[in-house]
Amino acid sequence: MTVTVRFAPSPTGQIHIGNLRTALLNWLYAKRDAGGRFVLRFDDTDAERSRREYADGIEADLAWIGIAPDQVVRQSDRVALYDAAAERLKAEGLLYPCYETPDELDRRRKRLAARGLPPVYGREALRLTDDEKMSVEAEGRRPHWRFLLPNFAGDPFAPQRTEITWNDILRGPQTVDLASLSDPVLIREDGSYLYTLPSIVDDGDLGVSHIIRGDDHVTNTGVQIAIFRALGLTVPTFGHHNLLTTVSGEGLSKRSGALSLKTLREEGYEPMALASLAGLVGMPGSIDAMPNLEALGDRLEFGEASTTASRFDPAELDRLNADLVHAMPFEAARDRLAEVGVPGDEAEPFWAAVRGNCAKVGDARLWAGVVFADAFDRAELSDDDRAFLRAARDLFPDGPVGEATWRDWTGRLKTETGRKGKGLFMPLRLALTGRDHGPELAALLPLMGRERVLARLA
Ligand code: GLU
Repeated sequence: MTVTVRFAPSPTGQIHIGNLRTALLNWLYAKRDAGGRFVLRFDDTDAERSRREYADGIEADLAWIGIAPDQVVRQSDRVALYDAAAERLKAEGLLYPCYETPDELDRRRKRLAARGLPPVYGREALRLTDDEKMSVEAEGRRPHWRFLLPNFAGDPFAPQRTEITWNDILRGPQTVDLASLSDPVLIREDGSYLYTLPSIVDDGDLGVSHIIRGDDHVTNTGVQIAIFRALGLTVPTFGHHNLLTTVSGEGLSKRSGALSLKTLREEGYEPMALASLAGLVGMPGSIDAMPNLEALGDRLEFGEASTTASRFDPAELDRLNADLVHAMPFEAARDRLAEVGVPGDEAEPFWAAVRGNCAKVGDARLWAGVVFADAFDRAELSDDDRAFLRAARDLFPDGPVGEATWRDWTGRLKTETGRKGKGLFMPLRLALTGRDHGPELAALLPLMGRERVLARLA
């Protein structure tokens, strides 16, 4: 069987790391299989809130991570399919018109609650005669449509425990009792579709074999399996991953913006830092920086995921990013080094010297300033240290500045001045770089070159 998965965002905002988790788990699941397919489906039936620019932004975010969909579909192009499925369900009496207003439903729920009963819809609309329906419609009321859950033997007003079970690839065996649920509304009063039916029709039509999504959909899945069956469609395999929250425990929202992929990209994070965190949080084992999606896929084990929410901690993202940058080969940084003004012929040794001191590639700008600047503010130094620097200037080795220069120079300084340890290195570091910490001076000296070194010691 070809594995076909889909990622189905509604294009109503920018996707965040929680949405990335869904996309990524689907992608990695499908790509474990040689012929695995990944469909990007835009759930854009809500015409008011859906925007093309958000859809384009989502595609760009996925491309940045390295996810290239095999197919892109938009629900707004596919309404005829949903209409056909709805007609079929109506003809079979499985989709029935209801006329209650939200207020009426609310009053009913309160009455049930007062009697200690669960707030399950009592199928009152099923009792309406054709005449009654016609007269409500004559008053100008339009129906919304509910799917008749198969949770009864012969009498829909006497629901019985009806278990829908599936073996979840992330949570193990799951059970939903259809008798505990209200018949879901599939079509609104204005004729528009809620998410449920279009999603099932598309999953069937596009041959989706595996649905991996957030565990906020677990109950939905029970309902959806019943509808898949009612439509004669093959029921896919399901997997529900836990959701991510902020550090303070709030849910992530497409509208909050701050943790969107776009913002994090603009802040200079590496795509694999995000992907590693989004993929590995809440999974067995430690969260490590994975160099690429393939390695992440190899690390992931589907089957033992956490069932409680995981916190998205920006400090963890910083750690993963720094780990990636510290190990980043020059080739991967080359273009961005050019952007921050590192001269091309010195970029490779420069990167080797500074990457261990960069939490983001963009931090190279700071070190480029330190290494290649003609002048910068020197830290405050004592008279003693100034005298030491004059000696250091005089003792700077002749000949080309190379790998061994630092060792030769500091060796001589030790002998001539008697200084050692911090007393020897710190004034040099402060004079040469303007700061008290940073990359190995042995590696920086050849990049600075004799003239800059001598000028900074003067
Ligand atoms: N558009 C739905 C959502 O974002 C898709 C859910 C699903 O994967 O079925 O919640």
